Amino acid sequence: MSLHKRLETDVLIIGTGLAAISVALHLPSGMNALLVSKGTRFETNSVRAQGGIASAYAEIDHRGHFEDTCQAAKGRINRSVVDYVTRSGTEAMEFLLRQGVLFDQSEGEFLLGREGAHRLPRIYHCGGDETGKRIMETLMPQVPFPILEQTHITELIQVNGQVVGAVGYSEGEPIEIVARATILATGGVGGLFAASTNDPLIQGDGIALAFEAGATIRDLGYIQHHPTVLVHAGRSEGLITEALRGAGATLVTKNGDRIMADHPMQDLAARDEVAKRIHEVRKREPVYLDTSNVVDRTKRFPTFVEKCEKLNINPDLVEIAPGIHFLMGGIETDLSGRTQVEGLYAVGETASIGLHGRNRLASNSLLECVVMGKAVAEQLKLLPERSVKQIKRRPGTLRSVTDRLSQVIGVEMDVRQIQESLDALKDWTLDESGQEAEENRLRHVTACLLLEGARSRLTGEDESVEQVAVTATTGGIFNRGYRTVGHHE
Ligand SMILES: Cc1cc2nc3c(=O)[nH]c(=O)nc-3n(C[C@H](O)[C@H](O)[C@H](O)COP(=O)(O)OP(=O)(O)OC[C@H]3O[C@@H](n4cnc5c(N)ncnc54)[C@H](O)[C@@H]3O)c2cc1C
Repeated sequence: MSLHKRLETDVLIIGTGLAAISVALHLPSGMNALLVSKGTRFETNSVRAQGGIASAYAEIDHRGHFEDTCQAAKGRINRSVVDYVTRSGTEAMEFLLRQGVLFDQSEGEFLLGREGAHRLPRIYHCGGDETGKRIMETLMPQVPFPILEQTHITELIQVNGQVVGAVGYSEGEPIEIVARATILATGGVGGLFAASTNDPLIQGDGIALAFEAGATIRDLGYIQHHPTVLVHAGRSEGLITEALRGAGATLVTKNGDRIMADHPMQDLAARDEVAKRIHEVRKREPVYLDTSNVVDRTKRFPTFVEKCEKLNINPDLVEIAPGIHFLMGGIETDLSGRTQVEGLYAVGETASIGLHGRNRLASNSLLECVVMGKAVAEQLKLLPERSVKQIKRRPGTLRSVTDRLSQVIGVEMDVRQIQESLDALKDWTLDESGQEAEENRLRHVTACLLLEGARSRLTGEDESVEQVAVTATTGGIFNRGYRTVGHHE
């Protein structure tokens, strides 16, 4: 493959979601950066965020937020990380307000939402349920760096073990971007699944890229299902914010029986518990969200109401089902966003810092993006100089994995089916090179890692995916030439 275009920058930020933008807006002056997005700059999960951002800004201290996060997580957290992020909630809100984000207020007081497993209303929102869109529309124009849209990064460049940039395709043309630091802000994995709340472009690419570069990946078995994805004519039609339940909506059967009535937190129990209950009931009959008693529904939840109007359904009672929503695990980093590979950082949903455990507390991810974006930018002040030699690349492989993943990874999982899928993916062979082949290679690597994560979660193995992957390599999963990074000279 001949490389037409070569760019150089101090910091390459792969992504244009809130995590990426937070890094960009916190970088020290004098430092150059370049941001890239797979689609347009606004095709991100950040834009889709509805409920809001969790912060103890109005509380005496962050202790309640810290405890609720730990409680919802059900283990697998680093308490000092939870302390750091929840403590930083006040600073994050001050930053967003300073940048001009207009959070909903009434008579000079912020209107706070309440969501699952929060014992207090502490969710700051904009435009009712348009929080992500409004935050991103406010912050994006303030980014002082170029943004390359329609640019799909397919491989990291490594020299002597260090990541020194990335290659991919920009508007279909090969591109090489050399950088002193490379930041993966590529979001979660939902786009790999059929029933998901995510933007379809968000497919876990960062995880495959980091894995291929030798970074540790962990906890991929922990994927959060959002309890309420709107179902219409048998199809998933996107997320319905949990804040509706915070405002009084309830989960019911056709007869009006409340399915969460016996839970101490009722309809606002932790997401995994609500999703599980819905899944169980749906084996017998459909489950609905009754929003008929939500006060000011149209004003507070315009996204929901407009969606119902578009589908020509009555918003009072809508059928729902759980859908793939958020990846708790990801690329292991420290509290400065550093991975174990020199020159490579990860931030936002693609990273795993030990905040979300087995179950993310609602609205903690926008907070993580803002807080950790700043932490990464601060770390970059210490960036060493680096020069890069000519780079040679090898092309990759493969085809779509969505159907297979969607069939076996869900609220309920079966270890035998997971193993069968893994075995089937092992047998897939190399295709020709080119952009499509390389995109498919990334999907394939992420899919194998997700299946490995699910298998180790189900079998109770407590090892990181890096360890699992080493086993897998000897077993043949990654021995077909997929691990192309490391072959650069
Ligand atoms: C419907 C919905 C509602 C949500 N509501 C809330 C909420 O109310 N509160 C909350 O805290 N969280 C919410 N979340 C979760 C939250 O929105 C996300 O976790 C968060 O926005 C992730 O931000 P990010 O910057 O890490 O990634 P994203 O915003 O997903 O951005 C990822 C970026 O990476 C780019 N990218 C990916 N792969 C490549 C590649 N190979 N090459 C180049 N670019 C690439 C994409 O183009 C994109 O720009 C919600 C999520 C969804 C889907």
